[in-house]
Amino acid sequence: MILVKELTAVSTIAVRGLDLQLFWELNQLVPNSLVSIADLNIKKGEGLFPYCQLPARNALKAALTAYGQSLTINSAYRSVIAQAMLYSQKQRGLIDNLVGYPGKSDHQKGASLDIEEWADVKTLMTSHGWKWTYGNKDAMHFDCTSNQIRDIRPDSIKAFQKLWNKTNPDNQIAEDGDLGEQTLKCIYNSPAEGFPNVQYPRILKLTTPYQFGKDVGQVQLALRKAGIPLEQANQIFDNATEQAVKAFQQSKGLSPDGVVGEQSRILLQLS
Ligand SMILES: [Zn+2]
Repeated sequence: MILVKELTAVSTIAVRGLDLQLFWELNQLVPNSLVSIADLNIKKGEGLFPYCQLPARNALKAALTAYGQSLTINSAYRSVIAQAMLYSQKQRGLIDNLVGYPGKSDHQKGASLDIEEWADVKTLMTSHGWKWTYGNKDAMHFDCTSNQIRDIRPDSIKAFQKLWNKTNPDNQIAEDGDLGEQTLKCIYNSPAEGFPNVQYPRILKLTTPYQFGKDVGQVQLALRKAGIPLEQANQIFDNATEQAVKAFQQSKGLSPDGVVGEQSRILLQLS
């Protein structure tokens, strides 16, 4: 088990397992705080954690539609854990770049994007709810200007504190949303691939043999509640369930892939 403080790889992919656990905690704390952008017409830069706040997702979607081709996104949401990982490496002299204290950077709000083709889309982005915040100093960087963006940075720190307390009963910390020395130390001492004793919902989809269980039943009932017709709520993820999921996804503006992952669960109010 490699701890965050022991990592020597610069790519934030190294903490993806822990990031995903934090993602679930955060969405339980603040529903819909982060949504996926993986289904949009984007190319994913190496290390991209493809999430941002819903107003930012909508603004990106509108810009992509206007642009008519895909864009390469190098960075979107960056968690406090990813930032702490970089900060620790900076402290150990492993990297030269300027690394801000975790908890403060723009990308931790989930409303910033780094876009490879920035020069081609600068004007287009600024007319679709994005600010070219730092000009040529950080040319790839855009911030969403929607007034519906909330500062989720304290929430995500609180989500980490909850995750830590859930998995470390003998070493409880304050759930105050503040990244003090103690919380930073706990991040450093967390396993990069995630805590082994935490379980999150499985991905539900049409498989052979069918997936079966209470969790499927919950999805079926949630689909009905959302107004999607579904004859049987039989706890079996069958063809009819897949069709209903697709109809639901379409009604929410998602790509209808019939797979109930985190995004669909959030919109079905199951997370
Ligand atoms: Zn940036």
